[in-house]
Amino acid sequence: MNDIIQLLPDNIANQIAAGEVIQRPASAVKELLENAVDAGATEIKLLVADAGKALVQVIDNGKGMSDTDARMAFERHATSKIRQIEDLFRIKTMGFRGEALASVAAVAQVEMKTRRAEDELGTYIEIENSKVIKQEVCSYPVGTSISMKNLFFNVPARRNFLKSNAAELRHIMDEFIRVAMAFPEIFFSLTSNGQEVFHLEPGTLKQRIVQILGNTYNAKLVSVGEKTDYMNIYGFVGKPETARKTRGDQYFFVNSRFIKSAYLNHAVNTAFDEMIPKDSFPGYVLFIDLDPSQVDINVHPTKQEIKFEDEKIIYAFVQAAVKHALAQFSIAPSLDFTLNADIQGLDAVNKPFTDDKKQAVASSNLYQTFTQKNQAHFIERENKSGELKHWKSFFESPAAESESKTSSNYSSSLLQSITPKAAAIQVLPDTPLLQLHQTYIIASTNSGFILVHQQLAHERILYDKYSVAAHGQQMATQKSLFPATLELAAADAALLQDLLPDLTSIGYQVEPFGNNSFVIQGIPADILPGNEKHAIELLIEQFKHFSSDIKFSKREKLIRCMARQQAIKAGQSLSQKEMLVLVEELFACTSPNVTPTGSPTYLEFKEDYLDRMFGK
Ligand code: ADP
Ligand code: MG
Repeated sequence: MNDIIQLLPDNIANQIAAGEVIQRPASAVKELLENAVDAGATEIKLLVADAGKALVQVIDNGKGMSDTDARMAFERHATSKIRQIEDLFRIKTMGFRGEALASVAAVAQVEMKTRRAEDELGTYIEIENSKVIKQEVCSYPVGTSISMKNLFFNVPARRNFLKSNAAELRHIMDEFIRVAMAFPEIFFSLTSNGQEVFHLEPGTLKQRIVQILGNTYNAKLVSVGEKTDYMNIYGFVGKPETARKTRGDQYFFVNSRFIKSAYLNHAVNTAFDEMIPKDSFPGYVLFIDLDPSQVDINVHPTKQEIKFEDEKIIYAFVQAAVKHALAQFSIAPSLDFTLNADIQGLDAVNKPFTDDKKQAVASSNLYQTFTQKNQAHFIERENKSGELKHWKSFFESPAAESESKTSSNYSSSLLQSITPKAAAIQVLPDTPLLQLHQTYIIASTNSGFILVHQQLAHERILYDKYSVAAHGQQMATQKSLFPATLELAAADAALLQDLLPDLTSIGYQVEPFGNNSFVIQGIPADILPGNEKHAIELLIEQFKHFSSDIKFSKREKLIRCMARQQAIKAGQSLSQKEMLVLVEELFACTSPNVTPTGSPTYLEFKEDYLDRMFGK
């Protein structure tokens, strides 16, 4: 009684993206886990043997199936999740095509046990080659267990096509993680050949992220959260220091469904611009929730690709939300919110905005939420060029460093003040500068004050200088009166030999002297003479440290090492004059707000922000 699964009529079935659903054990894992989620389970266990080639089993405590449904579930286009075409536009479940179990039953031996709460006895069913070979009543707890055995037992060619166990298990873990990440309130476990690989207790999203991605993310996550009537975004991005050279920790979910989108990935990466080295990737776990009618999940057989009604809005929203989050946690002291070329190239952005279009857009909810001034993603209404150029960035205090929701809400109420580009900061010329703890410099600006970290600021200044020198204008050299000789190990000598042309461009004059030794004839003009030997040795050491980092050119690595090495250190006291020069030079840099590796060089405290802090 009360069976819920129905066959989809042909006209609907035909509108559903057809394609191969089961290509490898991991595809079955995805489908079975999603079915368990759709069934409302609070506990889902995945067991695999032989990387899923021998067995994939999912046990859930969801709502189970009636005996008729248990049989029906394996028919093609049999689903309880949609009834009519309109349902395709309001899908809230992971599944809807009614194809997964049918596909599994076609290529494996399947056993299922299931029971609903209202039934006293459950159903046991066995299927092979799409045929039910046994069905009987059984006693079973409420929920469902589906075992898929010997995948492709009847299609040996496909079976041979499977990769090594290590590779297939990796795919399984990927799918497992994608589902487990999206539902932190559900218990998940993964057992492989009898060994529990994952045991994920229900918890918050943050806990789930750390459980899955590891402790390196603990205390290194910045919370992202923006709401509009059109869409919400929430989740976490890793602080810039967690960015890695390899991709892997990037997760995007749209309405709880993991999706692959180079486009949205790009939106997040650009939000990190300047904060992380080029070609390194920030980790993130981001969720976008929006009306299902605004996304088409039906464009790809495994639903990993989707189409948005309005892609560029999503892009801009994601980018702005991430930038906003990073700024909130004072990871980026001040940000330039210009949109990147990709967006500016889009039709909707660079085509004329006619009056008709304007009206239609201006009356939409989406537009209205985007034009509220206290939103991070505020788009300016009037714009000469017609481009979405003048995004506003906002600034906040170090007090918001904590990742709690309250502090984030608190500071967003302070977001009225608008910070222009970092370069527009003007240090007041006639006010004295103050050094604190021989580390920080306080300088008054036209709109408040800034707290500069002397070492990090100097690192930025030197980096810019060396870069200019390395790309043309050679730096001035001061000749050593008593040239020092440097004797090196063979490997280091080879390295230094290699670096000589670059060293010359930044003002060093080093000459080979045979037998792995070198003479230092001159050093950059602005380096204090005296410890040049040590400086070069240190440089080689640092360079070696860096050299696994293939993404940087030799020259870039050298410049970075030099900048770090030569920067004045915290703990050094500075005169008024020195502080003034430092601050002036800092703001002459193209990106004064961050070091080459992405640390902030100063924090800005705006007057109106301070007023608010004092309740004025
Ligand atoms: P879809 O998920 O697209 O509906 P499937 O072939 O995956 O199609 O599943 C068919 C139907 O079987 C589902 O609509 C659902 O009613 C039922 N079903 C599948 N797995 C479970 C489960 N673990 N618990 C309860 N019902 C399930
Ligand atoms: Mg399904």
